[in-house]
Amino acid sequence: SMARIGFIGLGNMGGPMARNLVRAGHAVAGFDLAEPARAALAEAGGTAAASLADAVGGADVVLTMLPEGAHVRAAYQGENGVLASAREGALLVDCSTIDVETARAVARAAGERGHAMLDAPVSGGVAGAEAGSLTFMVGGPAAAFEQARPVLERMGRAVIHAGDSGAGQAAKICNNMMLGIQMISVCEAMALAGRLGLDRQKLFEISSKASGQCWSLTSYCPVPGPVPSSPANRDYRPGFTAAMMRKDLRLAQEAAQAVGATTPLGAEAYQLYNLFAMQGKEALDFSAIIQMMEEATQ
Ligand code: NAD
Repeated sequence: SMARIGFIGLGNMGGPMARNLVRAGHAVAGFDLAEPARAALAEAGGTAAASLADAVGGADVVLTMLPEGAHVRAAYQGENGVLASAREGALLVDCSTIDVETARAVARAAGERGHAMLDAPVSGGVAGAEAGSLTFMVGGPAAAFEQARPVLERMGRAVIHAGDSGAGQAAKICNNMMLGIQMISVCEAMALAGRLGLDRQKLFEISSKASGQCWSLTSYCPVPGPVPSSPANRDYRPGFTAAMMRKDLRLAQEAAQAVGATTPLGAEAYQLYNLFAMQGKEALDFSAIIQMMEEATQ
C-alpha cells in the first residue's frame, strides 16, 4: 500500500531517492533548506513543504538524508524538529552516514516519544540513488525493519537488516574503511607497476583474475582505460568525493577509538585522505588519491 512520506534533505542523494518514491506512487512531502532542492521535488510530482514540520506532520514514514550527525540531531531533536512534529506511530528512518553514537542517541530519544527509528545508511552513490539500486544497511527493531522494507526497496536493490540500533552505521563505516584501504592498495600497486615498466592494463587483466582482485580494481579502477565507466576516465570528476571518503574514514577512526579496535591501515588511510585534502583535492573523486602515489619520492 502507498504511504505518505516526509522526506528531509533533498541533496545529491536525497533528491533522486525522493523522486523514486514519487515514481513508485507514494505521496512525498519534502523539505530542504535549499529552495532549488524543494523546487526539483515539486517538479518531479512531489510536494515542496514550507518547513520541516510541514513535511513531517502528515507522514506515515519520515526519511532523512542529511550531511552529518550534527544535522541529524538538529533535524530530529531541534525546535519544530522531527520528534516534535511527527504524528503518533510514524516510522522514522535516517539514511545519512553518521557516527554510531549519534544514531543510537537519536533513536533512543525517538523511542522515548513512542517512535520506532531505524538507521539505514546507503552505499551506491548518486548513480545508485538515481537508478534506485542502492544498498541499505539497516539497524533497529526487526518489526520496524519489516515495516520500512517496502519503502526502502523502491530506492534500493539490496535492503539488509544488520542488527540493533546503530548496526547500519557500523556496517557502513566498516565497509567504507575496507573500500578506502583497498582503493589506496590499488593506487600504490598501479603506481609501482608504472615505475617498473609494467603495462597497467596488463596488471589490471592479471589481478582481476588473481588474488589482488577487489571492487576498487575491477569496478572503479583508478587509472584511465581498464574500466571505462570509472572516474579516472573523466579527470576524476566524482563519483564519490575524497571529502566523503575522508569523512567516513574519520567516523571509522572515532568508532575504533571508542571501542579500542586495532585499525592501523584505517588510520593510515585517514591520514592519506587528510593530506590529499590539504593539497586542495577533496572535491575530486576518491580514486584520484593515486595522484599522491604517482608523485616522485625523490
Ligand atoms: P548533500 O549535501 O548533497 O545533501 C544534504 C542536503 O541536506 C542539502 O541539500 C542540505 O541543504 C540539506 N539540509 C541540511 N540540513 C538540513 C535541515 N536541517 N533541514 C533540511 N535540509 C537540510 O549530501 P548528499 O551527497 O546527499 O549526502 C547525504 C548523506 O548521504 C551524507 O551523510 C553522505 O555521507 C551520505 N552518502 C552520500 C553518498 C554520495 O555519493 N553522495 C553516498 C553514500 C552516502
